[in-house]
Amino acid sequence: MILRMSSLFVRTLRDDPNDAEVPSHRLLVRAGYIRRAAPGIYSWLPLGLRVLRNVEGIIREEMDAIGAQELSFPALLPREPYEASNRWTTYGNGIFRLQDRKGGDYLLGPTHEEMFTLAVKDMYSSYKDLPVWLYQIQTKYRDEARPRAGVLRGREFIMKDSYSFDTSDEGLDRSYAAHRAAYIKTFDRLGFDYAIVKATSGAMGGSKSEEFLAKAEVGEDTYVRCTHCDYAANVEAVAVRAPAPVAYDDAPAAHAEQTPDTPTIETLVDHLNEKFPREDRPWAAGDTLKNVLVVLKHPDGTREPLAIGVPGDREVDPKRLEGQLEPIEVESMDETELGKHEALVKGYIGPEVLGEASASRIRYVVDPRVSEGTRWVTGANVSGSHVLDLVVGRDFTPDGTIEAADVRDGDACPNCAEGTLESARGIEMGHIFQLGRWFAEALDLKVLDENGKLVTVTMGSYGIGVTRAVAAIAEGTHDELGLCWPREITPADVHVVAAGKDGEVFDTAARIVEQLSAQGLDVLYDDRTGKVSPGVKFKDAELIGVPTILTVGRGLADGVVEVRDRRTGERTDVPVADAVDHLV
Ligand code: ATP
Ligand code: MG
Ligand code: MG
Ligand code: MG
Repeated sequence: MILRMSSLFVRTLRDDPNDAEVPSHRLLVRAGYIRRAAPGIYSWLPLGLRVLRNVEGIIREEMDAIGAQELSFPALLPREPYEASNRWTTYGNGIFRLQDRKGGDYLLGPTHEEMFTLAVKDMYSSYKDLPVWLYQIQTKYRDEARPRAGVLRGREFIMKDSYSFDTSDEGLDRSYAAHRAAYIKTFDRLGFDYAIVKATSGAMGGSKSEEFLAKAEVGEDTYVRCTHCDYAANVEAVAVRAPAPVAYDDAPAAHAEQTPDTPTIETLVDHLNEKFPREDRPWAAGDTLKNVLVVLKHPDGTREPLAIGVPGDREVDPKRLEGQLEPIEVESMDETELGKHEALVKGYIGPEVLGEASASRIRYVVDPRVSEGTRWVTGANVSGSHVLDLVVGRDFTPDGTIEAADVRDGDACPNCAEGTLESARGIEMGHIFQLGRWFAEALDLKVLDENGKLVTVTMGSYGIGVTRAVAAIAEGTHDELGLCWPREITPADVHVVAAGKDGEVFDTAARIVEQLSAQGLDVLYDDRTGKVSPGVKFKDAELIGVPTILTVGRGLADGVVEVRDRRTGERTDVPVADAVDHLV
């Protein structure tokens, strides 16, 4: 394959684009890989598309290698499945909704759990069909509050998303482990320096969850890692753009006022009324409160927490909270129920939903007295998209280790006795998690087991940001001269520069290019003539970042060409006759 600069659809830019905040964004635009169409929406030009396809190829190979099957769902999706999972609502402003000519509601898919679940439900009915692992590499849409850094956080982006379907928890563990192993291979091949960190399970509940973060200062994720062992966790739950944590005693009155056994609906109503005097209430008469969830913890910190909540599919008139709220014992909730409530809260507190303005309304409370055995202590009161009050506490597993949430620089490591935690920043490249039976329950995906009994399927969900990976790799590999691609994903293997005016330079360059191409290498050939000086060609070659630059120029008088390693800068003169052998 030969790409000729004289005809390649590319224009390199000398100046940085105005809106570029990070090097990868600046360089991908300047080198002619991507072009902005609208905020967070980019076109891929030929060079960029080649890199993107290479990244996709690696991901595809590793998914195929574990036996996952590729398929493709539409991006334009009907409302109903997302209504059934409640994500039509909980996604808030985070999704693009649209209507067809008949007034039917649609959305542009932000992620596809619903569609995969329904497809499996339609086609499979027996445990014998499972496990099955399905994936797609497909365009996603999210109306991000702050699209940034080019394709690092887009509103349209490509994701590889896969989903596993099993009948047993052990099966799900195996599916999760297989994906985790495939991700390690994938990110190794993509050349990332990355950390695997414990994560919160996001807006979908579920239990086990890890993220693959590319280490990068420009990353939006902060994680902590132990100085001694391999413990690492995302601090996303803390990073809800919170003001300095306040002590438990400053928590809303509802907490303080609880006597251990009597968290009542009246207390909650009183609390809301007390907190918001009539004239200050963020809700108006007749408004409905949606998805109210308050999880109350006993003030002495030693007893099981109690919860008062409303399932998300109901709307509550704030004047009639009494009639609608049900006290729930967290202890008696199963995973699915807990996941559902967690989902509702997370769905509302995500920065996508809140935006800059409302984020400042969040109150963040750290409870230093959370005891071992506390599942989680989280609460939010939500009116439409207004957050009235939010309490987020530590997320503890039953054995007392901190899961992801709320660990800070300096803290002692929760995993080993020796280490302390230090924080670092990263870019979320991949996210794997055990969804459990949440979606299958919501969409009624059941199969017959060995005994002919209907059982609910348990699922895993596994994503990789494909377009984000291109930017993150650029971020991690560029230097002051430009991009600097790893061999696995470079748009071409060799960049041949014809640096000179006379015909011999061009003839020799063209011959080498043909021979390299015949050997199966992809060659980018700078065959431009006329006003394009060697200096301009070298600058472009550095900016574009192909790993090997072969220059046919002055050395030709001595029968040599120059081979330069883009990364190390090392230059070697090679006799013309040996040039091809030297590179293949
Ligand atoms: P983030 O925390 O960065 O917003 P997320 O947790 O919302 O990401 P997931 O729902 O876990 O993202 O999606 C799986 C993967 O898709 C992410 O790990 C990330 O690599 C990628 N991704 C998510 N949002 C975007 C985006 N706006 N632009 C590009 N890639 C994205
Ligand atoms: Mg997100
Ligand atoms: Mg995330
Ligand atoms: Mg994620």
